[in-house]
Amino acid sequence: MLRERRKKFRIITWVYWFLLVYIMAALIWWFISLLNKTREISLLQQTELRQKVDSLQSPFQYSHELTRIRDLEARQRAKYVGEGVTFLGIIIIGAVFVFRAVRRQIKLQQQQQHFVMAVTHELKTPIAIARLNLETLLKHKLDDEKQKKLLSMTLQETDRLNTLTNNILITAQLEGGGYNFSSEKMDISGLVDKTIRDFSARFPQRIFQSQVEDGLELEGDPFLIQLLLNNLIENAIKYSPIDGRITVSLTATGERINLMVADEGPGIPDDEKERVFDKFYRVGNENTRVAKGTGLGLFLCKKIAADHRALISVNNNTPTGAKFEVSFFQ
Ligand code: ADP
Repeated sequence: MLRERRKKFRIITWVYWFLLVYIMAALIWWFISLLNKTREISLLQQTELRQKVDSLQSPFQYSHELTRIRDLEARQRAKYVGEGVTFLGIIIIGAVFVFRAVRRQIKLQQQQQHFVMAVTHELKTPIAIARLNLETLLKHKLDDEKQKKLLSMTLQETDRLNTLTNNILITAQLEGGGYNFSSEKMDISGLVDKTIRDFSARFPQRIFQSQVEDGLELEGDPFLIQLLLNNLIENAIKYSPIDGRITVSLTATGERINLMVADEGPGIPDDEKERVFDKFYRVGNENTRVAKGTGLGLFLCKKIAADHRALISVNNNTPTGAKFEVSFFQ
């Protein structure tokens, strides 16, 4: 399937370059032949003039006619050069535009294919793990501690499943305009506090540090803000070592409320910092990536931030890691 697509892409590329070279060559050929024709016509007119020289009333008339013929030739040349350069410019701009559009389309198609594979994997894995855990609980008499461990693992898998399905469904709804955006005054401090508590309970082995200013209120959709926060914290967990600290802060400065999620992972290279917010975009390639994902989380975060008139950005954490900041303007 993949080889077939590559072959198709190679054929399209060849056809594209063939047509482009052919069009350019034809343009240059027409240009040269028009210049030659203009030259020939001018020479013919000059010969005719020389033959008619005796019938002319004065030498002044001859030189006047000669200048007129030469001027006409120069004007024709200038016209062809101008038209040729304009055509060439249009062809080059068009070719670059088509090339970039096709390349973008192919890249999007590849990303969509990876996305479908990733989603299939991400959907199947938690279901398989949850099923196995529940079967084990049903078939074997386990002690309390083992039961608790299996149940908490199952809960973690269902949470992953929940985030994934929410990301897919909400992205589709937000993009299609089908989401019923609710705008209400919410206790953002309470929401962030509760989220950190939930994550600490779900991931007891991870170190969470929080600095949440009390009593901050925000006008927006609580479900979407929760989704944004979940995605940022889940990424911090996913992309940083188990002993790395995850810091979440919520502070107010003037008219702004700032939400920050930072980790101590490898961070995001400078030239990828903008692109990680693109749909389906994932840093690295299929062979180098360790963590599974769909490339939808940050795209959704950016969309949610924009729908709340907020700005989202990523910077380097010190000494290492990624630091995501969301600035809500009140
Ligand atoms: P996913 O995590 O499903 O791949 P996201 O849209 O959430 O998709 O993230 C896009 C990419 O940005 C990820 O694939 C990862 O390469 C990078 N990324 C996101 N968060 C972090 C982080 N905290 N540290 C390092 N890289 C990150």
